[in-house]
Amino acid sequence: MIRTGIGFDTHRLVSDRKLILGGVEIAYEYGLLGHSDADVLTHAIMDALLGAIADGDIGQHFPDTDPKWKGADSVALLRAVVARLKEKGYGIVNIDATVLAERPKLMPHIPAMRQVLAEAMECDQTAVSIKATTVEGLGAIGRREGISAMAVATVSNLN
Ligand code: MG
Repeated sequence: MIRTGIGFDTHRLVSDRKLILGGVEIAYEYGLLGHSDADVLTHAIMDALLGAIADGDIGQHFPDTDPKWKGADSVALLRAVVARLKEKGYGIVNIDATVLAERPKLMPHIPAMRQVLAEAMECDQTAVSIKATTVEGLGAIGRREGISAMAVATVSNLN
């Protein structure tokens, strides 16, 4: 059986925070604000995976009211989500994700993100597509107030 899930996330850009996207630290004057490392791309992928198996969302599994998740490495949380997926008898077919950011240029970092995320999800890099787009200066993302990411995950029954 094939199932699909969708994920979306947004975090605010602020000074004095590291910018981490897809588990990769990117040199930039701003970083994303959040309870965890605020890795918006990894969060969108986690929600897509949880959505595919109708297993709630990351807010439910890793509540931002819980001090346990303060400053959490989102790639470690992704590993926990993939473990849940496997427990329920599903494996990842593919992930497709888009990051919406006016700046910085993300293209040079995409190979590293695919590598980190594929390793965390224990799947081949060819199953992990990461894309980036600007929003042509429009809205909050265009004003560089934040970064969003959306993802689709396809999973299949391992049995
Ligand atoms: Mg988030």
